[in-house]
Amino acid sequence: MITFNEPPFVGTELEYIKQAVANKKICGDGAFTMKCNTWMEERFQANHVMLTTSGSTALDMAAFLCGIHPGDEVILPSYTFTSTANAFVLVGARLVFVDIRPDTMNINEELIEDAITDRTVAIVPVHYAGISCEMNKIMAIAKKHNLKVVEDAAQGVMSTYHGQALGTFGDFGCYSFHETKNYSMGEGGAILINENKYIEKAEILREKGTNRSQFFRGQVAKYNWVDFGDSYLPSDINAAYLWAQLEKADEINDNRLATWNKYNHAFQELASEGRISLPFVPEGCVHNAHMFYLKCKDLEERAAFINYMKENGIGCTFHYVPLHSAPAGQKFGRFSGEDVYTTKESDRLVRLPMYYNMKDEDSSYVIEKSIAFFRQ
Ligand SMILES: *Cc1c(COP(=O)(O)O)cnc(C)c1O
Repeated sequence: MITFNEPPFVGTELEYIKQAVANKKICGDGAFTMKCNTWMEERFQANHVMLTTSGSTALDMAAFLCGIHPGDEVILPSYTFTSTANAFVLVGARLVFVDIRPDTMNINEELIEDAITDRTVAIVPVHYAGISCEMNKIMAIAKKHNLKVVEDAAQGVMSTYHGQALGTFGDFGCYSFHETKNYSMGEGGAILINENKYIEKAEILREKGTNRSQFFRGQVAKYNWVDFGDSYLPSDINAAYLWAQLEKADEINDNRLATWNKYNHAFQELASEGRISLPFVPEGCVHNAHMFYLKCKDLEERAAFINYMKENGIGCTFHYVPLHSAPAGQKFGRFSGEDVYTTKESDRLVRLPMYYNMKDEDSSYVIEKSIAFFRQ
C-alpha cells in the first residue's frame, strides 16, 4: 500500500523534543520557537516571522491586522482551502472569488482588476502547489488601488518568485506546518510580517491582548491588557519538531524535487499526446515540489483513475471543491465574472502520492500504474 502522504521525519525530532522538555519551557516562544523564527527571517530575507498554531490562524491574524471592517470586500480564488476564506469571514468581509488560470491553478491576475469595487480592501493570492502567483502584477494592482495583500503561502515554504521567497511580497505571508506540508510540526504555521508598522499589534494579538512581548524585552515595566487578542503561540515541543526539519530544509526540498522531476519526466509522453495535462511552472518561479498532480479528461475519468489506483494499493486524491459552489461560499461571497476554469479544472485534477523520502520503487510503481490506466 502506498499512502498518499507520510508526515516528514528526518530523525532528530525526538532529540530536540527532549531538549525542549529539559529546558523546562514547553509553552510558546521558547528557545526552539525563537530558532525557527530567526531561521526563517534569515533564510527567506523576511522582515519579521512568528510561529503560529496553524496556517489557518496565521491567516486569521493577517485578516485581523489588515483592519478589515464588516462589509469590506476581499478578492481570492475559489479554488483554495476553506481556511483562506474563513479568516476573512471572521472579520466580517465579503468574499469575491476570481477565476483561476488553467495552467497553474492560481488566481488569474488579469481578472483581478475587474473584481475591484469601492469596497475592496485586500487581495489574497494562494500559491497553489508551491508555484507562485504572478506577484509583480498583483503587487502593482494592489499599489494602484491601495489594497492590502495577504499571501496564502501555506504550500509555498522554500519556493521563490524571481529569486524572492513566497510570503515576503505582500503585507503578510502565511505558512503552514501541518503534517501534509513540506515541513511540519504536527499542527502549526507562521505569519510573515513584511512591514514594521504591524509588528507591535501582531505581538499583542498573538499574546492574548497583552504587551507581554514588550515586557520580556524590558521595554515596559509591567504587562497589561492593551487591546483585543487571542492565543496563537504554538508549544515549544511542536517548534522542536519543526526545528529538526528546518535544519534539513534543503535536503527535504531536494528529495521532494527528485520525486517531482521523476514523475514529470515519466508523464511527458502522455502529456504530449494530449491524454493528460501536467503542472506548469512559469518563468521566474522556483517551486518546492509541494505537490504532483495530473489532470484527466474530466470528472468521470478522474473517478475511474482514483478507483483504479486504489485497487492497485495507491492512494490518490482529488483536491478542492470550489468554495463558491459550497453552501458557505454562497452565503459569504460571490463569483466575479464567469467561472470558466475553476470548476472545470478542479474536476480534472488528481494528486499523486508525494512526500519526503518516498521510496524510488514506490514512485516507479505509481508511474507504472498511472501509465497503464491511460494506456488501457
Ligand atoms: C494547508 C493550507 C492551509 C491551512 O493550514 P493549516 O496549517 O492546516 O491550518 C491554508 N491554505 C492553504 C492553501 C493550505 O494548503
